[in-house]
Amino acid sequence: MSQREDFQRTIGYGEAALGQLRRNETPAYPRNYELWYTYCAGFNHALNKAVNEILRSRGVIDPDEVQNIYNRFLAPSRLGDRIEEVGGRISGEIEEVVESVERTLNANATYCDSLSGASTQLSDTTDAQRVQSIIQHLITSTRATESVNRQLESQLSESRKQIAELKDSLDAIRFESLTDELTTLANRKHFDQSIERFVAQSNEIKSPFTLLITDIDHFKNFNDTYGHQTGDQVLRLVGLAVKQSVKGHDVACRYGGEEFAIILPNSTLESAAALAEQIRVAVMSKELVKRSTGENLGFITISIGVSTFKPGDSVTSIVERADSALYLAKRSGRNRVCTERDLAPPATSPKGKVA
Ligand code: GH3
Ligand code: MG
Ligand code: MG
Repeated sequence: MSQREDFQRTIGYGEAALGQLRRNETPAYPRNYELWYTYCAGFNHALNKAVNEILRSRGVIDPDEVQNIYNRFLAPSRLGDRIEEVGGRISGEIEEVVESVERTLNANATYCDSLSGASTQLSDTTDAQRVQSIIQHLITSTRATESVNRQLESQLSESRKQIAELKDSLDAIRFESLTDELTTLANRKHFDQSIERFVAQSNEIKSPFTLLITDIDHFKNFNDTYGHQTGDQVLRLVGLAVKQSVKGHDVACRYGGEEFAIILPNSTLESAAALAEQIRVAVMSKELVKRSTGENLGFITISIGVSTFKPGDSVTSIVERADSALYLAKRSGRNRVCTERDLAPPATSPKGKVA
C-alpha cells in the first residue's frame, strides 16, 4: 500500500472514530480514541462484536462500558503497561538489594568498631572477669553480624532468581513487541530496525542484500466477499508461505495490512526474483477451503516487487524501488514478480550503447 493510500485509509478510520466519540459522548482520551479507532478499522472482531451488542441493545455506549471493553480487548495486549509493570518490579528488587547491602555494611562497620574497641580494652586489662565480659560481647556482636551477612546472602540469592524471571519476562515482551500477532512473523517495527541495519552495513562493507515486498491481489474484494475473519486466515496462509520460503539470516516481516517484506542478505537480484517466483507460485497453488463450512473460496494471488542494494542507498530509496516494482507488477496484470530492472529502460549513450 502506498503512503498516500495508507494516509487516506487511516485518516478515514480516524474521522470515523471521532464521529463515534461524539455520537456516544465519550471523552476523547487517547485510550477511548484507540478503542473507537480499532472499532472503525474493524480488525479486532471480538471487540467489534462486544461494542455492537451494546449498541444494538441501547443505541449508545457509556464511558464506563468503553473502559470495560478497553480493559477486556485492548489492555491485555498493551506492551507499554507490561513493560511498566516489569520495570516497577525490577526497581523494587534493586531497592531491596540496596537496602540489604546498606544494612550489612552498617552492621559490618559496627562490628569493626567493636573489634577495635575490644582490642583496646583487652590491652588495658588483666582482670579475668573483665576479659570474659569483653569476649562475651565480641561473641554476641560476631553472631549478630553473621546473621546480617546471612540475610544478605539469602536476599541476594532470592533476588538473583527474581531478576532471572524478570529478564525472561522482558525477553518475552521484547519478542512480542517485534512480532506480528496474526501471522507470528516479525512486525513492521522489526523490519524498520533490520533494514536500517542492513543499509548501514552494506554501505560500510559493500555486502549486497535484496528486498522483496509482496502484496495480496484484490484483497479488499476477498474481504468484502468472505469477511475479515476469513481474510485473516488468508493472511496467515500467505504469512506461512513467506515463512517457509526463508532460511538462516533472511528477515521475513508483515510489512503492512496485507503486505509482507523479506530481506535476503548476500543475494543477487536474480536469486531474489527466483525466490519471489517460488513464493508467488506457492500462494497461487493453494486452493482455499473454508474449514468451518467446507466452502470452496477459490485461489488468491500475490504480486511481488524486488529491489537490490546499491552503494549510497538509503532505507527510503531501496524500499521505494521495491514498491515501484510492486506497483509495476500490479499495473501489468497482478500475480507476477517485477524487479527494479523492469522499471525503466536503461539510459543509453549517444551511440546507442548501454551507459
Ligand atoms: P490490489 O490488488 O491493488 O492490492 O488490491 P487490494 O484490494 O488488495 O488493495 P487495497 O489497498 O485496496 O486493499 C487492501 C485491503 O487489505 C484492505 C483491507 O480490507 C485488507 N486488509 C488489510 N489489513 C488486513 C487485516 O489485517 N485483515 C484483513 N482481513 N484484511 C486486511
Ligand atoms: Mg496493499
Ligand atoms: Mg493488495
